[in-house]
Amino acid sequence: MNEAFKQNIESVRHRISVAAEKSGRSSDDVTLIGVTKYVDAGVTREIVEAGCVNLGENRPQVLWDKAAELADLPIRWHMIGHLQRNKVKRTIEIADLVHSVDSPRLLTAINEAAKGLNKKVEVLLEFNVSGEAAKHGFEPDQISNAIEVAAGLSHVAVNGLMCMAGLNGDQGDARREFAMLRQLAESNESDSPANVELKELSMGMSGDFEIAIEEGATLVRVGSLLLK
Ligand SMILES: *Cc1c(COP(=O)(O)O)cnc(C)c1O
Repeated sequence: MNEAFKQNIESVRHRISVAAEKSGRSSDDVTLIGVTKYVDAGVTREIVEAGCVNLGENRPQVLWDKAAELADLPIRWHMIGHLQRNKVKRTIEIADLVHSVDSPRLLTAINEAAKGLNKKVEVLLEFNVSGEAAKHGFEPDQISNAIEVAAGLSHVAVNGLMCMAGLNGDQGDARREFAMLRQLAESNESDSPANVELKELSMGMSGDFEIAIEEGATLVRVGSLLLK
């Protein structure tokens, strides 16, 4: 057992529960996703054995390779990076949740591949809430259209929304961006179709996960703090 990883995980979990309590929520409502994109399969194994079974990867090929190598472990895989349509099929065979759906075309491609595999795929819609040009994601005003597209898809379930805070902003900017994602979910939840339920908010990384939890995050994606 890697003691340093175990302590890192415990420390982040403690900070999660403090942030949850501060905002009147339960730490059970927040899932820690360990982002293992910085390390190889061997180190990823140590993270799982130290107690973190929800793992996020941002590159499809790495996700496939690690999933094959670590098939003996009870990992829940999260695809958190940009997904090209030609990599959809293999990715949805592995990922329990795709966080980074950023276009109607990708939604449709996932649905088609899911049909072929005879499964329903759970996804989040990624939004560009910081307005930074380099960021992937729907623009906030595209949400009605995205939901409308999703409504017509038999093999996709939209569980919520995802975002990243801007790279150039401060903590106040991050808070505003997280609050914007929450409001986007809240204001579109009530009249959404049966396969769209905007309950999950995937937001917050090593530098801002506590702020994200205060603003309603249910999934936090933490990498460098766990691996240090
Ligand atoms: C790398 C990455 C993270 C984790 O970032 P850290 O700052 O290392 O915690 C979270 N989400 C996404 C989408 C990432 O690419």
